[in-house]
Amino acid sequence: MDTTVKHPAMNRTQRQQAMTRDLAWQVSQPEAVFPARNLEGIRIHDWSALRQPLQPTLEQYWKLQGEKDKRLYAITDAFAQNNGQLGLSDARYANALKLLLQAFTPIEYSAHRGYARVARQLGLTDAAFQSADHLRHNHLEVHAISHFNKYFNGMHSYTEWFDHHWMLAVAKSYADDLLSAGPFEFLVAMAVGYNTVISNTLHVSFMSAAADNGDMSTSSAGLTAQSDKVRHQVAGQALVAFLVQQDPGNLALVQAWIDKWFWRSVRLSSLVAVMQDYMLPYHNHSWQEVWTMHVAQPLAKVFDAWKPLGLALPRHWQQANEQQAHVSHQTWLRLCRYSAGLPLHVWAPNAAALDWLSQKYPGTFDAMFRPHMMGLAHQVAHGQRPQETNAPVLCGTCQLPVPGMDGAQALAQASTLKGRCFCSLPCQHIFNLEADKHSTQAASSAQRHGWTLPASQAADSGLFDGSQDEHNFEEWNGGAQHP
Ligand code: ZN
Repeated sequence: MDTTVKHPAMNRTQRQQAMTRDLAWQVSQPEAVFPARNLEGIRIHDWSALRQPLQPTLEQYWKLQGEKDKRLYAITDAFAQNNGQLGLSDARYANALKLLLQAFTPIEYSAHRGYARVARQLGLTDAAFQSADHLRHNHLEVHAISHFNKYFNGMHSYTEWFDHHWMLAVAKSYADDLLSAGPFEFLVAMAVGYNTVISNTLHVSFMSAAADNGDMSTSSAGLTAQSDKVRHQVAGQALVAFLVQQDPGNLALVQAWIDKWFWRSVRLSSLVAVMQDYMLPYHNHSWQEVWTMHVAQPLAKVFDAWKPLGLALPRHWQQANEQQAHVSHQTWLRLCRYSAGLPLHVWAPNAAALDWLSQKYPGTFDAMFRPHMMGLAHQVAHGQRPQETNAPVLCGTCQLPVPGMDGAQALAQASTLKGRCFCSLPCQHIFNLEADKHSTQAASSAQRHGWTLPASQAADSGLFDGSQDEHNFEEWNGGAQHP
């Protein structure tokens, strides 16, 4: 008589483990199935030691994400049906959304592709979840912002501009560097760079400020994205520790990637800094406060915990922290200077905004930037457009404009250097370590064929004062004055 063999019941986590990680057979030629595992010099002796905290089961994952999407889309639908754009603090705020859509939404898509590649190359199931998450973030940002595209200029053609416009080269270059990195470098870059420096500032602080400015659509999208990012951060940090613990030879490689990607993310965060300090009609925290709360303090704690493993704070840590008292002001002045061909509007901060900046940046703003901002306001008030006719010279690594490199003469000088100009010593250091890779980037904006928008798209560009966006918003609100 047959006897029914009863297997002990497995809980959900064990079932997930059995179905996704333990196949009960060994790959006979792992180097043929996973060739990228050996390309970067990282040695893994025991993959089973990798713990992926907070990893849900497939069943939990789809259920949870489905619930989150249902709630989000109810909010975005209600926002659209109630003409939410009329409740914005001011039409200037829409320019922060343009920058978010143009620069960061495409990076979310690159992160989706990158994690999908890592899932295949390393056989990591957690990377497959993260790939799906980043695709979701890309979609929900596009959906949340799509409503505004009906009412404001500058939100069409954002994928084309991402590839060609000089202002977006900083984001494009970051995404390309991520996608052309090996799988281990990609994971470290996301753990210590994008998911920490960018995500915490963009998806928490900026999104809460978006709600203060009347935009419940984008703020809800950002906050639901951040609920995934918390999981990514925990998983990423566990992975960095795992790499270092697996082999003593891995430490130097991982530290070098940490140094590189922390600095690259710091430079990319200049765009979040201008959104936070200059593009919000109603302010909450300054960029420097956001940086301290969401990047400097939490990262310092992470590195404290990693100290026993031999990992040190990123090489340019101190310089990055010092830079935050300057970066938003420098970037805004540069955007204003080259406003003629930007895919968004800029403006001179009003008196209240200048006072707020003075109060938030007591050591730097009045001494170094207020005179420039007042000069800008004077130009605008007298009908002069603060525009350069030349393209800016871009850093050979991060692709942000190089300070002190304006005008035709500087452009000529830059071209004789074959574009090897750098915004900072860390960028020069990163370039020299991978000169072959970075020299394939368009060396200067002169080599970017789309450095300004075509004349037919003039409504997307230039000063906010006198723009169609300003005119329309005033008309919709019956000429009401906003901050
Ligand atoms: Zn640079």
